[in-house]
Amino acid sequence: MTHHIDNNAPAVEARHLVKRYGELEVLKDISLTVNEGSVVSIIGSSGSGKSTLLRCMNLLERPDGGRLTIAGETLDFGSGGRDAGLDRRRLQHLRARVSMVFQQFNLWPHLTVLGNVIEAPLRVRGLRRREAVAIGEHYLERVGLADKRDQYPAYLSGGQQQRVAIARALAMEPRVLLFDEPTSALDPELVSEVLGVIRGLADEGRTMLLVTHEMRFARDVSHQVVFLHQGLVEETGTSREVFENAASERCRQFVAGAA
Ligand code: ADP
Ligand code: MG
Repeated sequence: MTHHIDNNAPAVEARHLVKRYGELEVLKDISLTVNEGSVVSIIGSSGSGKSTLLRCMNLLERPDGGRLTIAGETLDFGSGGRDAGLDRRRLQHLRARVSMVFQQFNLWPHLTVLGNVIEAPLRVRGLRRREAVAIGEHYLERVGLADKRDQYPAYLSGGQQQRVAIARALAMEPRVLLFDEPTSALDPELVSEVLGVIRGLADEGRTMLLVTHEMRFARDVSHQVVFLHQGLVEETGTSREVFENAASERCRQFVAGAA
């Protein structure tokens, strides 16, 4: 479980990414690089395309144009996304490099905490049970929930459930972690325990792409911030550039209003 930090190698990269739903062009031309060991935050108002972008990065959605590079492998969606050489095996292989944490946790209610965490390592990574359990326990410890391993999700608080979801994502030992508003579904008093875990992962040098409305947090942990507006990158730069010195008036207003 080593973290190789090389700030020049992109862990994931999008080039001129396009995504449409029927007539609606949700992502118009998005280019974005997440280097190894860096934290990139995506901010922007509701409907600007943040979740769609994350889902494309994870191949939960298939882009309609542009290119995606994931852990050194490039997929070209130039021909309308129909044939990017994506058979089922390759899709699963690439998805395993990029783990997502969702707003709504999405834990399996019929599985214990440990069962949730080891499911994908067993099924997707093909690990032996003993190995998967060891990894699962390691990451449950990491998020401070080792003692909940045999509990069912319904008996946990929202903050604990989200920490299990983070352990589950980590157990895939991905190159990149994606977070889509990981604290938006939580009661206010539970937000900080989840942000604390994410901050710890950032401090470890984990590569992360984070959609959040927690502006102060984004400002603190991000190496780079991307402000999306109507499916385009309207502003991007270091945390300081975007939060204190944005060229775009709309970005300045958003940051001021959401802070
Ligand atoms: P954000 O996460 O920034 O709020 P989304 O990526 O969820 O934005 O949505 C961007 C736009 O795409 C919105 O107009 C939304 O209604 C639309 N959209 C998202 N998912 C779908 C879908 N599966 N089918 C049709 N439209 C969608
Ligand atoms: Mg969203």
